[in-house]
Amino acid sequence: MKPDTTLVTAGRGPHDGPVNPPVHHASTILFPTVAALEKAASGPFDGVTYGRRGTEITFALEDAVAAIEGGHRSVAVASGLAAVVAALMAFVKAGDHLLVADSAYAPTRRVCRRLLAPLGVEVSYYDPLVGDAIGELMRPDTKAVFLESPGSLTFEVQDVRAIADAAHARGAVVILDNTWASPLFFKPFEHGVDVSVQAATKYIAGHSDLMLGVITTTEAVHEQVRWTAALLGACPGPDDCYLALRGLRTLAVRMPRHQETGLALARWLSQRPEVARVMHPALPDFPGHSLWRRDFLGASGLFGVVLEPVSKQALSAMLDGMELFAMGWSWGGYESLIAPTEPARYRTATEWREPGPSLRLHAGLEHADDLIADLEAGFERLNRAA
Ligand SMILES: *Cc1c(COP(=O)(O)O)cnc(C)c1O
Repeated sequence: MKPDTTLVTAGRGPHDGPVNPPVHHASTILFPTVAALEKAASGPFDGVTYGRRGTEITFALEDAVAAIEGGHRSVAVASGLAAVVAALMAFVKAGDHLLVADSAYAPTRRVCRRLLAPLGVEVSYYDPLVGDAIGELMRPDTKAVFLESPGSLTFEVQDVRAIADAAHARGAVVILDNTWASPLFFKPFEHGVDVSVQAATKYIAGHSDLMLGVITTTEAVHEQVRWTAALLGACPGPDDCYLALRGLRTLAVRMPRHQETGLALARWLSQRPEVARVMHPALPDFPGHSLWRRDFLGASGLFGVVLEPVSKQALSAMLDGMELFAMGWSWGGYESLIAPTEPARYRTATEWREPGPSLRLHAGLEHADDLIADLEAGFERLNRAA
């Protein structure tokens, strides 16, 4: 079955009754007999037993994400960050060592510093371009390697297969934050990943109206991850699961458009004199391009730009006056976003030496011509103020 079809059919029942699964607002689930109550208590993750453990809509979303991302099963949690925390805490404990890509999402680094380190987990950051040399950074106590590809803000593409092979050879679990590609454009389990994290807040939901995370795993580690997620207590609400599943149904229609518009913007930006460098894995001159071509099935609408050095006041003149591009965190919705970024602030294993400021852009579903006109007017304001 092609992915477009899987997205429409996965997590749905037989052709009988409403198209969409029901939303149950539930804490308590009732059982008619002692025998039924005891049965529910003995199988911790089978069926509807207690609101925190999910209801039909939670399981439908989990089944659909697992089907499209290609893993054994998925677990839905309250946010993308909760998915990162559950994925990490499933594998590291006091005295263990964890390797994290230097280009990882900043709040992921914060989880390591403020949550895992005080619990006695030692975290080291590695150059995302390390490839199979990750083996040299691994120690007998290294329990997990965390990847994010392309990296947040800077978009380095990681050699997932090389890192996974080296990690597995030394007994470590491989966790990937796959949010950028969505479950559609990178298939983590075909590249040696054990645990894939999606901030479903982004492309899966697709409409900037909810927070949700989904962790998908291989069969071997599923139980461990599901238990950790359950014990963190960060269960998603039923309405958010419903909306995320509704978003997922149109993923295969939205992603190609995000890709196409993102590339149109990236190509246009790379011709501009104000731009020093465009960080977009699908541009042939981007350093990670050949790996992206080898491994990915497409590009999303999120990419970065390094500008030539310019005053903060000139940059503000550009960004404050944008009409279509709005400023704000998160991305993956139908609307275009732009925001200044500070990659240098979040690095420890590598250095960020670009002299000019950088921006992150999300290409939404508006027409590319209108978005380009908005950027062009922005550069005029920047040049006038410079
Ligand atoms: C947004 C994001 C997250 C966190 O997701 P939330 O739902 O905002 O908690 C994790 N990883 C990446 C790469 C993200 O962009």
